[in-house]
Amino acid sequence: MRITFYGAAREVTGSCFLVEAGGKKFLVDCGLFQGARLADARNHEPFPFSPAAIDAVLLTHVHADHSGKIPKLVHEGFTGRVFATGPTAELAVLLWKDNFDIMAYDHSKTGHPPLFDLDDVARAAGQLTKLNYRERLEVAPGVFATWFDAGHVLGSSFILLEADGRRVVFSGDLGNHGAQILYPTESLPTADLLLVEATYGGREHEDPRTRSEKLLRALKETISGGGVLMIPSFAIERTQELLFDLNEIVEKHKIPRVPIFLDSPLAIDALDVYRKYQSWLKMDAVCIVRCGDDFFKFPGLTLTRSREESRKINEAPAPKVIIAGAGMMNGGRIVHHLIRYLPDSRSEVLVIGYQAAGTLGREVLDGNRQVRIFNETVPVRARVRAIGAYSAHADREKLLSWLAAGKPKRVAVIHSDAPVADAFAQAIESQLGIKTHLPVLGESIEVGGIRKQILQGTRSF
Ligand SMILES: [Zn+2]
Repeated sequence: MRITFYGAAREVTGSCFLVEAGGKKFLVDCGLFQGARLADARNHEPFPFSPAAIDAVLLTHVHADHSGKIPKLVHEGFTGRVFATGPTAELAVLLWKDNFDIMAYDHSKTGHPPLFDLDDVARAAGQLTKLNYRERLEVAPGVFATWFDAGHVLGSSFILLEADGRRVVFSGDLGNHGAQILYPTESLPTADLLLVEATYGGREHEDPRTRSEKLLRALKETISGGGVLMIPSFAIERTQELLFDLNEIVEKHKIPRVPIFLDSPLAIDALDVYRKYQSWLKMDAVCIVRCGDDFFKFPGLTLTRSREESRKINEAPAPKVIIAGAGMMNGGRIVHHLIRYLPDSRSEVLVIGYQAAGTLGREVLDGNRQVRIFNETVPVRARVRAIGAYSAHADREKLLSWLAAGKPKRVAVIHSDAPVADAFAQAIESQLGIKTHLPVLGESIEVGGIRKQILQGTRSF
């Protein structure tokens, strides 16, 4: 089995791995590189392989940096199946439509063309095949794939691929400790090679039990100061976890009644998929949905699906709370709220997710006193606060304990900024004694073999 790394190699976004096994070609994930805009310029480059020659895509989860380029793959000739869990498949169609809307809007503002159109989305949707966890599927003669619960977002998976007498696990993204509404990450099965994400391979998160206290503090401070609390949020998972905590805070009257806007069509549409797949949620969360206290509904919460409803948020007097995508502030409706309220010293940006290098979110989080948005210079006077405990990603300690229990023969560290990946690889080798490798973009490895080829040359693995 041969694996080539076409993304998420020494960086966090753009997950895409070409697997050649059993005489077939598969992609595990086909995600967007994300930078200054939702679809960074690199995404417009041709694929480094022929999309028509790919037999199938195995999708770990919905997030744009894992699934976002599938409609482009279809546009350029891919006609095979896309295998994904039921929730991932349904959420992916919503995400692709939403991403098209964001890219079309970006086009009208900046001239950057969208990567695909709605016809491509419709065709990609028709190529999806839904499956369940732990269903061992023969994706090609003699090639088997099994999806396991990664506990990262609804329907998220790590995938075990068995072919040519080898077992390889692709971690996708792994969930954090203490998710309120998801089951924990399943144990790692035995594997000859594990490709492991290490977004937070260099950091321990705060105790997740403290997160709602910190959220409460941010709410109280902004409300008492008469400002606007802006929460840029990934539409899928972070938003639902946030609503779970807000439901509790509001229904127990821990804050005065203020308007709370969920200004994300994708997040609003995703709520229906969460309701439909309640049995995939943890029991206590399911009970809250089934026992009558639907945590996606509480006093003061307004869902703003249309642009017109979104614009009306401006008219609501402060204090108010606005939850909007994109999570890294590199597109979507949050951008308009940032233009309006970043210059307001009474307001606050509450960062609850990973901010990739090059994104507006990273600039804001790094404390820049002014930022550029749509060719406008915007001063930053609002407070900026981060709550790490909302991360949907495993931290260093969880990653190491997951690896220690599974003891794969070899590990390749992916989906991580280079310095973090280096340090995490050293920790795996020194603490667990597992041979570890840091792939670079375009590199191929032969699983179980000793040869490793890089586009630029050959060296031993
Ligand atoms: Zn993810």
